[in-house]
Amino acid sequence: MVYQADAKRYEKMTYRRSGRSGLKLPAISLGLWHNFGGIDKLENGRQMVRRAFDLGITHFDLANNYGPPAGSAEESFGKILKNDLKPYRDEIIISTKAGYYMWPGPYGEWGSKKNLVASLDQSLTRMGLDYVDIYYHHRPDPDTPLEETMSALDLIVRQGKALYVGLSNYSPEMTLAASRILKGLGTPCLIHQPQYSMLARNPEHGLLDVLEAEGIGSIAFSPLSKGILTDRYLNGIAADSRAAGPSVFMSPNDLTEAVLGKVTRLNELAAGRGQKLSQMALAWTLRGGKVTSALIGASKVSQIEDAVGTVGNLSFTDEELARIEQILAE
Ligand code: NDP
Repeated sequence: MVYQADAKRYEKMTYRRSGRSGLKLPAISLGLWHNFGGIDKLENGRQMVRRAFDLGITHFDLANNYGPPAGSAEESFGKILKNDLKPYRDEIIISTKAGYYMWPGPYGEWGSKKNLVASLDQSLTRMGLDYVDIYYHHRPDPDTPLEETMSALDLIVRQGKALYVGLSNYSPEMTLAASRILKGLGTPCLIHQPQYSMLARNPEHGLLDVLEAEGIGSIAFSPLSKGILTDRYLNGIAADSRAAGPSVFMSPNDLTEAVLGKVTRLNELAAGRGQKLSQMALAWTLRGGKVTSALIGASKVSQIEDAVGTVGNLSFTDEELARIEQILAE
């Protein structure tokens, strides 16, 4: 059946301006790092993307290397776009990235102009697109001059292959230097994508301040700590969970007794707020307005529905915030 987007899709979500740009992003964005690869069921991914869009999630985050195999998440998303979302292209923000290993030889990774330009051309082909909305440099390159990487991003925007540019995993110092170069080139940095959650607080040590001062938005990746900050692991490790699966980025060893103790206490606090722990964790990353969007992953439609349910309660009392800090410090 031909997909028809829900007429009420803009009623639940809130949209927040990315830094001092003109672009608004949904408070919750969907990432396709896991569960959209060639090894996964395309129909499940399709249902998740459709439900996300029906609930007002207008932003889908990809990278050249998402899969596995690398590139296959972009191919899956290309199929979903072609079959379902193409008529809605102007309602959707699509991001992709380059920087991690993609092909052999000296040009298949890092931050040369050669890598960034060639990789985006490959991504556009895989997704069947003329342009992406946001193109990120995925990780800093210690060897390529920052001026070259930033001028590659600027070139790509001038060529019309991306509308905005972003940085991911850059330190506060490199972000500031890159932002100044990009401003000088006339292509300001739209957004930074750091890991940020109750269990990964690094951006609080300088990065968020740089972003605010420079007028750059932020999108927190792995806000649920890959599923740890949910009720997923409170009663053991389910066979269909990420920790039990083939992902090299998460294993049962991450679920220590100490971590699960904190998660249990956070879960109780969330219940007292009338929320699921996953929802409290997302609301927490969005508290105070410094983070533009929380970038979730999902393996099931119901997880996307949970995430969107967060938007109804984003506020915390001082006591709740203090209790969270206490639990995290225990
Ligand atoms: P999350 O921290 O949101 O973890 C997602 C996982 O949590 C899901 O796959 C699911 O695990 C579990 N989960 C989600 N919702 C629920 C729920 N309601 N109840 C129970 N469990 C739930 O994010 P990811 O680690 O997936 O990262 C999100 C996105 O961030 C990526 O897709 C990517 O776009 C981006 N990213 C960027 C990086 C970068 O370097 N720039 C690096 C990493 C991610 P399960 O599969 O077990 O069901």
